[in-house]
Amino acid sequence: MSALCVVFLGPPGTGKGTQAQRLSRQLGLVAMSSGDVLRREIADGSVIGRQAEAFVKSGALVPDDVITGVMLSFVDRVPREPGFVLDGFPRTVPQAEALEHGFHERDIRLSAVFDFVLKDEAIVARVAGRCVCGNCAAVYNNSLLPPRQPGRCDRCGGELIQRADDRPEVILARLETYRRQTAPLVDYYRRLSLLHTVDASLSAEQVEADLIGLIAALAGADRRGK
Ligand code: AMP
Repeated sequence: MSALCVVFLGPPGTGKGTQAQRLSRQLGLVAMSSGDVLRREIADGSVIGRQAEAFVKSGALVPDDVITGVMLSFVDRVPREPGFVLDGFPRTVPQAEALEHGFHERDIRLSAVFDFVLKDEAIVARVAGRCVCGNCAAVYNNSLLPPRQPGRCDRCGGELIQRADDRPEVILARLETYRRQTAPLVDYYRRLSLLHTVDASLSAEQVEADLIGLIAALAGADRRGK
């Protein structure tokens, strides 16, 4: 199959980050999380971090041109094979259009968009239990996916923290932002015949197996098309 390039779409707390990391381990895909990239820029106090900070804190979206520039320069820095997962980007129709243009310029083809679907009540409950490694950004959940040692990352031993924007008042704002600005991408990608729905209420293992099944089917279709 040619390089695999997939987008993870869906509200916060639906397991996109966890699955991006799993696909990275299983298939060697590079996981590019727009949220992680912005959090790193903010922690470094860079120009981009200073532009992004207030938006991220309040649960609003960072301006389209800022995030598009960041993500396309990320794409330029990683190997094309075996491919990559864009987790959390694009999040608006103008971002999707800019991505299409950027990919066209770089001769990259978007393979598929996976839409993670989960009810709001389940999202709020999941986000309340979520903690992330302050060092390597691995994601855990105190009830669903607990670390082996409380408060410590299984992978690197880093300290686990709750993200400031996972607090209940901010998560409701983020869900509203998703509905207003990101949900239209579901129809956008459905019209392009790229959309696949993922039942995010299943266990992390089952969601991973479903994604790998969908990717294998895409690879089969790709081979037949050649
Ligand atoms: P996430 O970790 O994906 O939930 O993203 C955390 C925050 O980063 C979001 O609430 C936004 O403020 C910002 N962000 C992440 N991705 C994007 C994007 N594609 N466009 C604009 N803002 C973004």
